[in-house]
Amino acid sequence: MKQDIHPKYQTVQVTCMTCGTQFETRSTRKELRVDVCSKCHPFYSGEQRLMDTAGQVDRFMKRLQTTQTKQSEAARKTTPAQPPKKSLYQEVFGEEKSAQ
Ligand SMILES: [Zn+2]
Repeated sequence: MKQDIHPKYQTVQVTCMTCGTQFETRSTRKELRVDVCSKCHPFYSGEQRLMDTAGQVDRFMKRLQTTQTKQSEAARKTTPAQPPKKSLYQEVFGEEKSAQ
């Protein structure tokens, strides 16, 4: 190995920022902090839970809300409140109370 170009490979403490689990591994970094580990990841814990570290669910819900608002506004514009259309019979003979 060439001298003085390799980072120091040492034992480090890994800390999970979600559940606080700590364990040791080896790395060139001094300290490792992880968002999720095998103790708390849904895949290993069997728990039905959404991992949303990047805020993707929030972004999706925001987009959905915007779209739904736009759609309801468009629906209001295209269908102005108008009375139900009369049938030809009603137009010719006028309104009649159905005698059934
Ligand atoms: Zn964890």
